[in-house]
Amino acid sequence: MGFTDLVDRLRAGASPKFPANASTLEYAQTLDSEDSLKHLREQFILPTKASLRKVALDGTIPGTPAKQASNGNGTSHLNGTTNGAASEDDSTPSIYFCGNSLGVQPKAVRKYLEAQLETWASIGVGGHFSNMENSPLVCWQDMAEDCAKKSADIVGSLPSEIVIMNTLTINLHLMMASFYKPSEKRHKIILEWKPFPSDHYAIESQIRWHGLDPSKSMIQIQPDDYYISTDKILATIDEHAEETALLLLPGIQYYSGQLFDIPRITKYAQDKGIIVGWDLAHAAGNVELSLHDWNVDFACWCTYKYMNAGAGSIAGAFVHERHGKVESDPETGRPVYRNRLSGWYGGDKSVRFNMDNNFLPTVGAGGFQCSNPSAIDLAALSGALSVFNMTSMNSLRSKALVLTAYAEYLLDEIVASDSSAEPPFRVITPRDPLQRGTQLSVLLRAGLLEKVADALVENAIVCDKRKPDVIRVAPVPMYCTFSDVWKFMQVLKKAVLA
Ligand SMILES: *Cc1c(COP(=O)(O)O)cnc(C)c1O
Repeated sequence: MGFTDLVDRLRAGASPKFPANASTLEYAQTLDSEDSLKHLREQFILPTKASLRKVALDGTIPGTPAKQASNGNGTSHLNGTTNGAASEDDSTPSIYFCGNSLGVQPKAVRKYLEAQLETWASIGVGGHFSNMENSPLVCWQDMAEDCAKKSADIVGSLPSEIVIMNTLTINLHLMMASFYKPSEKRHKIILEWKPFPSDHYAIESQIRWHGLDPSKSMIQIQPDDYYISTDKILATIDEHAEETALLLLPGIQYYSGQLFDIPRITKYAQDKGIIVGWDLAHAAGNVELSLHDWNVDFACWCTYKYMNAGAGSIAGAFVHERHGKVESDPETGRPVYRNRLSGWYGGDKSVRFNMDNNFLPTVGAGGFQCSNPSAIDLAALSGALSVFNMTSMNSLRSKALVLTAYAEYLLDEIVASDSSAEPPFRVITPRDPLQRGTQLSVLLRAGLLEKVADALVENAIVCDKRKPDVIRVAPVPMYCTFSDVWKFMQVLKKAVLA
């Protein structure tokens, strides 16, 4: 079964048929050779075994030849090894399966940041309005909008439905300020059992902010063995429909890796008069989304996980077109728009600098912006998005489906080869390829986590562990290979079976 057949089967929700030699390195290499996105890896800087050991800056960038004389005598030292003479093994890219937590650095980010620094140094305040020739960046005033345009295909929206601003939790607060309008009757927020702590705190504090009691207004949907079925979500909506103001769920649950049926859940809740928001931290840049067509009310995401813009990078928010309208009151002529917490950068460019205190929001999500956004942050995001513009979410998802299914297949092989009474681990992410993204969450037998974590570190494998017993394995299609998956599994196997 070739690469495209595998994609077809997985897209149909069927389990893939891997051949008899699937657990060999040769097979992994065959898949790599058939991978039409393999060139994208070149766009990234992957840490190396040597660079992961760094404890001090030495002016070197992993994967690029060491610059001369970084410590004055022509050599630079890394824990006793001479960088220039690093062994082949030491300088090969590490296996990086942690892009669900922090994506690796796109080479473009350095280039875009340098362009930004040169612009600022050269023309100072003029950078707000001057487009520099030869620059990959537009002027500062237009950068957020430019990033919104470049994000539109990633989340499936109109460019005007996206605003790039702040960070994820702050945007959740701003969106709830506009969309969570509790009344005496409708005051509940439905969420899931184990939201990312920040989401939990945001929701809880919003409820308190309105003078309400979280124990009465927060409804958490419980899983069955880590899995929350759509039926269960719909039943919870039914149960609380009359009292619920807002449904706020993650597109992909960060712990289990479950992808929810966003269109179906959205429509179902909206039909009962509930506003629907999604936290897409683990979904944006990972799975295909159609926020506009799905009629989602609002959504928020960070850009440092699958979108690779760097730790704490500037975030994105989606506000559906129908909520971003700015109309004119026929009697007073005053603008009419959805209420929000406002600042001057939400003001339309035509009047933003009039300084007359008459707020006229930008039409669309841009009208929810508050502050002048950081041009440095936007430059980093622009660089990261430029890699997405070399491909499509459809192609990335196709590769991810196969990559993750291959990882699952090899995980199952490890379990099958183990003879102990209790298996060494089990996968708690849905087996259905259409109910998950790139990540597989592996629940280890109690007591194995430290051993596995040590083996991964020893082999320069970057992978996330969540106490007490879960590792989250995310072979990101932009820069990970099938050979990476194969090598990862050799290390895991040795650690859990030994
Ligand atoms: C990563 C993540 C966050 C982090 O929030 P920040 O405001 O960016 O620090 C919040 N929620 C979810 C679901 C996440 O996955």
